[in-house]
Amino acid sequence: MSLLQNPVMRAEIVSVGTELLLGQTVDTNATKLGEVFAEFGLIHTHRQTVGDNAVRLTEALRLALSRSDLVVTIGGLGPTEDDLTRDGIAEALAESLVIDEDVASHLKNLFKSRNIPWTESQLRQAQRPPCAAPIPNPNGSAPGLICRKDGKVVVALPGPPNEFNPMVDGPLRSLLQEMGDGMIISSRFLRVVGIGEAALEAKIFDLLSLPDVTVAPYAKVGEVHLRLTTRAESEAAAESPLRQVEDQIRERLGDAIYATGNLTLPGWIVQELSRHKATVSVAESCTGGLLGAQLSSIDGSSAAFSGGIIAYLPTVKEDKLGVSRHTIECPDHGSVSARCAEEMAGGVRHSFGTTIGVSITGVAGAQPIVENGVEKPSGLVFIGVAGPTGTGSHRHFFPGNRETIRKRSVQMALVSLRMKILEVLGS
Ligand code: AMP
Ligand code: MG
Repeated sequence: MSLLQNPVMRAEIVSVGTELLLGQTVDTNATKLGEVFAEFGLIHTHRQTVGDNAVRLTEALRLALSRSDLVVTIGGLGPTEDDLTRDGIAEALAESLVIDEDVASHLKNLFKSRNIPWTESQLRQAQRPPCAAPIPNPNGSAPGLICRKDGKVVVALPGPPNEFNPMVDGPLRSLLQEMGDGMIISSRFLRVVGIGEAALEAKIFDLLSLPDVTVAPYAKVGEVHLRLTTRAESEAAAESPLRQVEDQIRERLGDAIYATGNLTLPGWIVQELSRHKATVSVAESCTGGLLGAQLSSIDGSSAAFSGGIIAYLPTVKEDKLGVSRHTIECPDHGSVSARCAEEMAGGVRHSFGTTIGVSITGVAGAQPIVENGVEKPSGLVFIGVAGPTGTGSHRHFFPGNRETIRKRSVQMALVSLRMKILEVLGS
């Protein structure tokens, strides 16, 4: 039978383990399975996590079986009393557990060869519902299981990643190949800055409910990522429908899309500056070097990022960046002001001899500050940018705690820097 004749399959994961619910173990196995399901084009709309409790596990499995063709459990296959996955599967499939004699003798030999005393509780690992076939475990004792009943398939995989991964990459992939319809799920990401999530949604609202391509926005700090996803026979076949929707989005958002895929905003900045043999320097007050850290985190950043000055105290802004005493002491300005941000950006640009200088000055603490008799509230931040086309600044107000204010300041400085790069160097 041709693979393409198989109907679309719905798949669901049931992760088993109280440690997952307590947040003590991160469910990295389910993350991997999600990727594998997408690779085989499976419809994956639900995932459950349940503790080591037979009744709740059976309930979870029944629910999964009521809406999915394939259910994959993770964990709970060991020999101890809280390893209940086999019991739960048997109950949900209305079967009784039997001992698999081949597995039992394999286990006994395994223990003998390792000089580990045999205990009867180990036999739990040889149990299976009659409809199940064991999956060998090269890195442990508990075998996995593939159970087929009434057109449904339940696969049980062990929790330890070194046992789980080989079973996914070997037997599970073969099973999915055999059961799947030959399709894949292909995704691409468009990265958007300078436009909020709600405004963005309004611009592309009609594209959020297309029949063949799903468009989903994800809000990040100061940017939005749009995921475009489609089901197709191959990556090559997915290209055309994804491209058509991407083109429509580009038409509406223009410059706001700075990259596709994994290119980050600092990555884009370093790439564009290097391409034009241009450079940037930074002058940071309340972010204490976080902007420089972002730029320098990019491989090859030395071609574009010259360095910076952390100018925390007003005297440092004056001595090291050439901010005027008048700006710092005048009630109309102060060290948290547009004028100061602009002088900081101009000062660092001049002293480092870079194409562009960027600055951040603001109030990141929880309490307002008073300078020159004027109160400046927490979250008030000025970002300055100086370049060959002139010097300007933006006033921002970021709600949140110190960490949030500092993060947003860095992000908005990167956004302002990008605007300057487009203005000075073109796209
Ligand atoms: P179990 O098979 O339930 O006895 O789990 C054994 C060990 O595997 C646990 O202590 C965890 O360290 C790990 N583990 C279990 N489930 C997961 C999971 N879903 N993702 C990652 N590690 C897991
Ligand atoms: Mg467990």
